[in-house]
Amino acid sequence: MNLLEKSQAVETLFLELEEQSKQFHEEAGMGCISGCGFCCSNPEVPASVLEFLPLAFDLYEKGLAEELAAQLAATKSKGVCVVYRAQSDDLSKGFCGNYAKRGLICRVFGASARKNNKTNQKELITCKLLKSERPAAFQEVSTRINSDLDIPLAPAYYTRLKDIDEVLTALQPVNEAIFLALELVLRYRYDEEEEKAS
Ligand code: SF4
Repeated sequence: MNLLEKSQAVETLFLELEEQSKQFHEEAGMGCISGCGFCCSNPEVPASVLEFLPLAFDLYEKGLAEELAAQLAATKSKGVCVVYRAQSDDLSKGFCGNYAKRGLICRVFGASARKNNKTNQKELITCKLLKSERPAAFQEVSTRINSDLDIPLAPAYYTRLKDIDEVLTALQPVNEAIFLALELVLRYRYDEEEEKAS
């Protein structure tokens, strides 16, 4: 698979997850707190290059890839996700500036579960805010995902991501992953142009 095909395979995987997550949210009746950007305000969000290839290709198509890569290089990829649009001084409120192309980590949070190896029970992957602000709903959903409520399993999606390209699934802070994804896409498109011209 070339880089574009890998990106397309990631998008196909995301579509499948979106379907499953949508069904889960509809049946669970519990989603993120409106306007909350708590998760995105963490500069250490662990992400891989592979899950951000669709974002990098999209930014390239929009003519924004070079500018953003330069911006990330200048800041050494420090700080909160470059795509995040904060709406409060403490950064805890805001929204994703490219929701359609967000990474896998952004999709599994609040919409998937992992298995606890000791108890063999599924545990909802969510944030401490939701647990503290909606304790009753959190408890109910935590119980139901082990009985009658289907929920995507995050580790299964990470395994399938690895099946596309294991090397590109190494985890690093989100901006570093986006930066490296942009560099790969810029190089890929450059090589493509060179090939056409020769
Ligand atoms: S890509 Fe969007 S959802 Fe993911 S961390 Fe960045 S701002 Fe948040």
